[in-house]
Amino acid sequence: MIPFTFIRTATTDAAIKEGSLKASKYLAGGTNLIDLMKLDIEKPGRLVDINHLSLNKIEAGTNGSLLIGALVKNTALAYHPEILKRYPVISQAVLSGASAQLRNMASTGGNILQRTRCYYFYDTAFPCNKREPGSGCSAITGYNRNHALLGTSEACIATHPSDLCVAFIMMDATVHLQGPKGQRKVLFSEFHRLPGNTPQIENVLLPGELITAVEIPALHYSSRSHYLKLRDRASYEFALCSAAVALDIQGGKIVQAKIAMGGVGTKPWRAYAAEKVLMGSSVSDDRFRAAAEAALSEAKPHKYNGFKIDLSKRTLIRALTTTSEIA
Ligand code: SF4
Repeated sequence: MIPFTFIRTATTDAAIKEGSLKASKYLAGGTNLIDLMKLDIEKPGRLVDINHLSLNKIEAGTNGSLLIGALVKNTALAYHPEILKRYPVISQAVLSGASAQLRNMASTGGNILQRTRCYYFYDTAFPCNKREPGSGCSAITGYNRNHALLGTSEACIATHPSDLCVAFIMMDATVHLQGPKGQRKVLFSEFHRLPGNTPQIENVLLPGELITAVEIPALHYSSRSHYLKLRDRASYEFALCSAAVALDIQGGKIVQAKIAMGGVGTKPWRAYAAEKVLMGSSVSDDRFRAAAEAALSEAKPHKYNGFKIDLSKRTLIRALTTTSEIA
C-alpha cells in the first residue's frame, strides 16, 4: 500500500473540488477500494472521504420516482419500506450479494463503481489489460470459468460483479452526477462501458464527477418483479448467472416485459431481444424458453465458461416463471 493523503469533506461542492485534483479517489464504504489499495491495484495519492455528505436519503423524486442517495447503505436500501413494496427486485438483488457486514458498509454509489472480480485482475503476477493497459489478458487463454459471454472483446472478458446494477438496468434507472462542470443525468444503460480496446475505462464518469443519486422511475407493474441468482455456494459469492425480471401481465397476456442478466456480461446486461419475444404473447413455458434463447443468442463462450449459456437460460426461465406467478 502506498502513502496517500486523507481528506474529509462536509459538502458536495467541497468534495468535488478536492476530488477534481490529480490522483484523487472518492471514498464511501471502502468495501472494494480499500481491498484494491491493499493489493496495490488502486493507488490513489489522495482519498476524499465523502461519508459526511448529505447523500444518504431515499426520497420521492419527480413523477412518482424514487431517489436513492449515493451514500445509502446496501442494508438500508434492501429493507426500505418503499423498496420492499414497490421494487422487490432491488431488495432481492441487494440481499443476494456479499455478507450482512459488507452490506452494512457498502454504499449505493460504490456498488455501481465496484470493479470486476476476475482473479487475474487481483493477482499482480499476471498480465491484465484492465489493471495495466496493453499488458494482455490472462483470462482469454487461462481459467475463464467465471468470465463473460456477452459484450466481450479481444482485450477483456471480465464480468461486471454487481447484483444491484442488474436490477437498476432492468428498472431503467438514471444515474445523477455532479462534477466540476455541474450536474447531469445518465441513463443506467449508458453508464457502464463495454471493454473494447480500453477495458480500464469502465464508465462514463468525467474527472472529478461524483455519483449523487440513482433515480428509479415509477412503473405500475414493478411490484411484480423478481431477482434470481445462481452461484457456486449459497451466500457470500458472486453470480455465475442471474436474472432480474418485471412483467406486466393482463388477462394471461404479457403486455410489457423488462429483463436484465448478471454474471454473463462485461457490464450489467439488458436483454432487449428477450423482452421483444415476450411482449404481446401469452404466459407459457414455450415463450419463456424462446425468450431465454433470444437472451443468449449472441453468447460467445471461452474454454471453461460454456456451461453458463445453458445455466443462464434456465435461470431466466425460472425467474420468468416465478415472476409470472406473483399475484
Ligand atoms: Fe484483466 Fe479483463 Fe483479462 Fe481479467 S478478463 S485478466 S480483468 S483484461
